[in-house]
Amino acid sequence: SETPSALTILFGATGDLAKRKLYPSLYRLYRKGHLSSGFAVIGTARREWDNDIFREHVKKSVMESTAVQEQIDEFISHFYYLPHDVSDSDSYVALRTLANDLDNKYALGGNRLFYLAMAPEFFGTIADHLKEDGLTDTEGFGRLVIEKPFGHDLPSAQELNEQIRRSFDEKDIYRIDHYLGKEMVQNIEAIRFANALFEPLWNNRYISNIQITSSETLGVEERGGYYETSGALKDMVQNHMLQMVSLLAMEPPISLQDDDIRREKVRAFRSMRPLTLETVNDYFVRGQYGPGEDGMLGYREELNVNPESNTETYVAGKVMFDNFRWAGVPFYIRTGKRMPLKSTKIVVQFKDIPMNLYYRPDDQEMEPNLLVIHIQPEEGITLHLNAKRAGHQLQTTPVKLSYANSGVDVMNTPEAYEKLIHDAMRGDSTNFTHWDEVALSWSFVDVIAEAWRNEKAAFPNYPAGTKGPKASDELLEKDGFFWWPMN
Ligand code: NAD
Repeated sequence: SETPSALTILFGATGDLAKRKLYPSLYRLYRKGHLSSGFAVIGTARREWDNDIFREHVKKSVMESTAVQEQIDEFISHFYYLPHDVSDSDSYVALRTLANDLDNKYALGGNRLFYLAMAPEFFGTIADHLKEDGLTDTEGFGRLVIEKPFGHDLPSAQELNEQIRRSFDEKDIYRIDHYLGKEMVQNIEAIRFANALFEPLWNNRYISNIQITSSETLGVEERGGYYETSGALKDMVQNHMLQMVSLLAMEPPISLQDDDIRREKVRAFRSMRPLTLETVNDYFVRGQYGPGEDGMLGYREELNVNPESNTETYVAGKVMFDNFRWAGVPFYIRTGKRMPLKSTKIVVQFKDIPMNLYYRPDDQEMEPNLLVIHIQPEEGITLHLNAKRAGHQLQTTPVKLSYANSGVDVMNTPEAYEKLIHDAMRGDSTNFTHWDEVALSWSFVDVIAEAWRNEKAAFPNYPAGTKGPKASDELLEKDGFFWWPMN
């Protein structure tokens, strides 16, 4: 569908996210003609910049991200800057005046996207002012786009939600989970619901377990201060990992409309088996990296990290669904920093066939069928099958059918942020997280966080650069499974 004209008002315009992701994404949308019906951007932040400094900043950030620079000067001429103090009404009055001017100048129809690329502590204040000072009072749409983290537990998320709901309806709130903007995460639905081959098997009669891995090679870098208040559970599991789980587990929606998909995701979250303080350790394990080879620091030695920190840099867990489709099928998730490689992928392991007529050399068991969805850095699908081994009557050999997004495709594939900004402009909230999903995933995660707060962990328990603590392997071994390799 057409992208309507709109004014984007960006809070946190001098920040890291805006520079690395938002400006390059807007430029790509512009180059593809998606902003042709009219657009303008007002950047605000504390710094006393003017339009010229801001435009140079935007230009530089675009040029750092792409070799193509056509129409860059035309592009940046749509950018305006206002210094801003989030709690000062006068700031908003000035903002309103500029917004109204640009509305007229570019014929934007009063459509506004308020993008908060700032720390969540400011969201409530900004939302209040946007309403009180009349910025939301236009003919067109007024949508609020906000970044994670959405709270640090259920009560804080509820409080944050109440604050922004004073000024915005749920339908106008776009909570970003950038994993939902990734091409192959969006492909989960297509793989499931567009293939006669998979959906009939997508249940506990044919699937033995599902494994989702998201590993990073980096440590906390200079974000130690933030990470100390978060940890892998809140930073990765509550949002990205559980979102992927819900897309894999949900029932087929009646249509691909945002409401219909959301309804099924919420039902999936509701059928997750809740944990209790007593059962947490049977389902979830945590890890923290210690020093590794080549002088890699342990987490406790990193900048702004407590030398006795109890913060987890690794989590593995088992999520069970108590419903007809999934009863008995574990969904294993693991995520960690300072792993041997950077990769996000999903492995769907099918059950063994009822009787094995073939054997493999050296009497190995036949491998189960696997469907592997590669999310990043590779994008694609691999199906592991067994075929006859050439020249041998009774032996099989594993074969892999692979589809990979080719280099050209990857280059043309919109980046997650590009897709999400485009969706928010078009009013498609499919790939954003609804409040009900946020609330349900926090209530699931809060119990784990509480159990772990009460009990000091034996950290560090894996060396930097390795694939996590032993307890993570044991979690699967006790169910008779093992992690498929990360690579
Ligand atoms: P940042 O610290 O680089 O930028 C913060 C911005 O907010 C700056 O422009 C700063 O001027 C502005 N700001 C801060 N206090 C202000 C005040 N009192 N009045 C006016 N402006 C003020 O942060 P960031 O990395 O760009 O992240 C922004 C948000 O996005 C955060 O909520 C973060 O959690 C989230 N996020 C960031 C990334 C990322 O890659 N950087 C990824 C996911 C989510």
